[in-house]
Amino acid sequence: MTFYLSAYRSQPAAVYLLARVRLARKEIESDLQIGLNVAYVEQESQTVTLYPFEKRYSISDAEWLRWKELQDADAISFENTGICYRFYQADAGDAAIVTGLACNTNCVMCPVSESSRRHAQLTPVDELKMQLRYFGTDIPHITITGGEPTLLKQGLLEVVQYAKEQCPSAEILILTNGRTFSVAPYAQAFNRILIAQDQIAIPIHGSNAERHDAITQAQGSFAQTIQGLRTLAQGTMRIEIRIVVSKLNNRDISNIVELLLTLPRITVVNFIALEMCGNAIKNREQVWIDYLQAAAACEDGIEKLVSAGIDIGLYNFPLCAVKHKYWTLCRDSISDYKIRYTPVCESCKVKSICYGVFNSTISTGCFVARPIAE
Ligand code: SF4
Repeated sequence: MTFYLSAYRSQPAAVYLLARVRLARKEIESDLQIGLNVAYVEQESQTVTLYPFEKRYSISDAEWLRWKELQDADAISFENTGICYRFYQADAGDAAIVTGLACNTNCVMCPVSESSRRHAQLTPVDELKMQLRYFGTDIPHITITGGEPTLLKQGLLEVVQYAKEQCPSAEILILTNGRTFSVAPYAQAFNRILIAQDQIAIPIHGSNAERHDAITQAQGSFAQTIQGLRTLAQGTMRIEIRIVVSKLNNRDISNIVELLLTLPRITVVNFIALEMCGNAIKNREQVWIDYLQAAAACEDGIEKLVSAGIDIGLYNFPLCAVKHKYWTLCRDSISDYKIRYTPVCESCKVKSICYGVFNSTISTGCFVARPIAE
């Protein structure tokens, strides 16, 4: 029987399921045996058969544009509205578990808007665990992010434990504001589960409570985060600090770094350039500084961290904003679908090694490119 995806579009509520993409029949049976759904894609007939339901769908030309990009062993969510969304790209070596946009702070420069976060739901733990099953057992890296993942409370521990079982060789990176780790038993539970190859990344926005809390708009958040870092330092996982550089803290970067040097076991410090959407664009006058100015503000801190033997990265900074001597610190940190270049970038001699700029930062007119001639 053939089902037409577009026929589902009139249904009011999307119902979706997860599936592993297969381009050849030979792996279907083994996937089914471990309880996975399979979307078997036949290029020639432009059809998809969903197993174990054995439902065959003819894909319209418009929908095929998305389907034909899929590779063998990718994982998708497949909606009865006809949309397929890839949540895992098998050849990327990395996958993200997103716990939902909900957060317990409301940072002035967050790229997510306050209303999006306020109305966001947490992703159910069972659904996150199901996603993990589609990553395969040999994936090398998993990022757990939100919103704020610790809002799952014990559920986050359950997800991490499940990731350890399902994907035993994966390095796990948790992106969190760190506040919940001020509850010592909670942090200690992560100290028991996470090992040396894993990493927790936590932002520090100011060298003191007044500045940090003004940026998070959450009173007490600085004290909670510092307390959490001290307890996590008793574990063995790597501890990363992220400093999002804005007009609100660019003069405080050196002081923040000096504070970090007093904390135990900081492994890596990454300086983050702004993504101008959500709260950041709403509060543009308060937060935006040119990337050139933001990168310059990091230089003294970079030198201090180098002297202390701490790893450093510059995230989201285009090369034209960074002094040549620091280019090796620039990281490929922007998601592929968000990377853009400006028209004048075409004349830039280093475009082929520049990691680009956020689409939002260009479309809002914030970014000024400075093509490099030599
Ligand atoms: S001008 Fe464009 S390509 Fe060149 S460094 Fe800047 S952003 Fe990158």
